[in-house]
Amino acid sequence: MQYQFYPNRQINIPYLLKIGYGKTARIGKYLVDKGLSNVALFWSEGMEDIIGGKLSKGFEQHDIEVVYKQDVKYINIEEVDKVAFNLPRNTDAIVGIGGGKALDFAKYCAHLLKKPFISVPTSTSNDGFCSPNTSLLVDGRRKSVKSGIPFGVVVDLDVIRNSPKICLYSGIGDMISKVTALWDWKSAFRKGYERYNDFAALMAYNSLDILLIRRVTDINLPEFQRGLTTSLLISGIAMEIAGTSRPASGSEHLISHALDDVARRPRMHGLQVGVATYLCALLQNNPSLEGVREFLRATGFFDYAAQDPLNREDFVKALHFAPLIKKDYYTVLSEKESLERAITYVETDPILKRLIQ
Ligand SMILES: [Zn+2]
Repeated sequence: MQYQFYPNRQINIPYLLKIGYGKTARIGKYLVDKGLSNVALFWSEGMEDIIGGKLSKGFEQHDIEVVYKQDVKYINIEEVDKVAFNLPRNTDAIVGIGGGKALDFAKYCAHLLKKPFISVPTSTSNDGFCSPNTSLLVDGRRKSVKSGIPFGVVVDLDVIRNSPKICLYSGIGDMISKVTALWDWKSAFRKGYERYNDFAALMAYNSLDILLIRRVTDINLPEFQRGLTTSLLISGIAMEIAGTSRPASGSEHLISHALDDVARRPRMHGLQVGVATYLCALLQNNPSLEGVREFLRATGFFDYAAQDPLNREDFVKALHFAPLIKKDYYTVLSEKESLERAITYVETDPILKRLIQ
């Protein structure tokens, strides 16, 4: 397998980036500062009741007009397509507010119409709020579709603080996965299967340091939540710089995608990814294995995930299926003995025995 030299391409970054407290009420000001005044809003179900009042007040103060709004329930690509091309012609910007679905819907609409997308996550359960991809239903299956980095990201830490615990733990799992993803990427590069981007890798490693070196592990602390948000955001941008999801997604994501397909009851993305990260770190003899184990223990991730363990039969099925998900994609799971070793770890490692039963 040969790879090509880097094409000379443009890298996008968010031009509007605000992380802090009380930001919802200021979104109107941020939009007007960028010359955007007619917006289409896509909400996660129920979210408008919670923060809609604060948002509208800011909009009124700055003469922002909402030309269209919708609660997002379904994310099949045909529906996004239909809604996008029926938006009022004077729409300046598309704003997604909520969890994964509303952001994905709005991000893809904006991509289709080549309009600025403002991402307003109300939880940090994964890195999708500032990544160049969207997760949509294509022919009934969840697929990652390229769509570009958001023009703006506004994170109100007051809202994040009140998001359900499961979202924070899922964010932790999605974030720690960079450890194994980066190992897979570097190994694929060393074997000549993949090109490597030193700067994107550096950013992704640094995004991990924000969480791991600070040694703050109490998920209820504001500094932890700010750190997690920043880490996820930077790792999303690392994907844009690399031109591939490699800095943020490797073997552990393959296992999670496989679980989405084969498990009777798939769990939230980052929870599956976090469990798989620990297993893949074992398989890789990853130099950061101890760090991963300690971080997931100290933050309470293991205890949280163990309250609703994954089904062992489903997990083993997913292990068989995972390396086949992406063609010509080297990860530790491509190694011949990995499957057998993984099954042994699932059966014998004391932590995995609690998480997968
Ligand atoms: Zn992820």
